[in-house]
Amino acid sequence: MEFSEVRPGIFMAVLEEEATVSLIVGETGCLLVDTGSTSGVGNQIREAISRITDQPLTTVVLTHGHWDHSFGLSAFSDYETLGHEDLVQHTTDDIPVIVGDLYCRENLNWATDQGINPKKVTLPTTLISLITVRDLGNLSVEIAHFGQAHSRTDLIIAIPTHRVVIVGDLVESGPPQFDETSSIHGWVTTLDSLYGLLKPDTCVIPGHGEPLGPEHVAHFRAGLAAIWDQAEWAFKQSIPLAEVYTHKDLNWPWDRTTAEKGISLAYAELAARTM
Ligand SMILES: [Zn+2]
Repeated sequence: MEFSEVRPGIFMAVLEEEATVSLIVGETGCLLVDTGSTSGVGNQIREAISRITDQPLTTVVLTHGHWDHSFGLSAFSDYETLGHEDLVQHTTDDIPVIVGDLYCRENLNWATDQGINPKKVTLPTTLISLITVRDLGNLSVEIAHFGQAHSRTDLIIAIPTHRVVIVGDLVESGPPQFDETSSIHGWVTTLDSLYGLLKPDTCVIPGHGEPLGPEHVAHFRAGLAAIWDQAEWAFKQSIPLAEVYTHKDLNWPWDRTTAEKGISLAYAELAARTM
């Protein structure tokens, strides 16, 4: 794998069949965003970093807990590693269990496929709830959580001086990926907040694929808002969930499978509000 420079000192690599990883190189150190899906991929990332900079890696940040972004963290246990606090929620009942986005269904399935004990998944050393900053000498990296959206643990990493934001799976070049940790309403409001950070020339680095521009963020947000607003209208009309997608007055973005998943999640959120 090789990094390419998207802005001075800001590098990204699109891993084959993997999530994007980004590297921010400052005068006093560098910060990595996302780690790939296994410790082997994590080690490839370490090698690639050593080929482009002598600056020491200081911090590794996870955009969220999904396996393709986070399970390479085990290759970085000698550094500060940082993620949202809901990656890990410890509860102690009679039988101790660990829940959190690192233990969502998708991650457990991947761990099983890889022969990884889910209880041995590497956890970040630093957990944040809202916002933090890391100083790399000539530039600051701002790291913020705007609420439950694609997952419960999404972080946006911004380098304002370079007009770059790294957004994980909050923005996709294709349709949004929903799972049981997603919130449709929260995703729309998170993208409203993200949009406030953008300038016309901001480079938006998504969790998969090549950089996107602010207009794409606006279109993506409009698609999610269309799902939420129409689902809310249908819910208030007491239209059964199974009849919402084919309702004659409604039009849906993306493909049917994506829209129906989004509608189902929106219905569950709306039902929870009435309880
Ligand atoms: Zn994801």
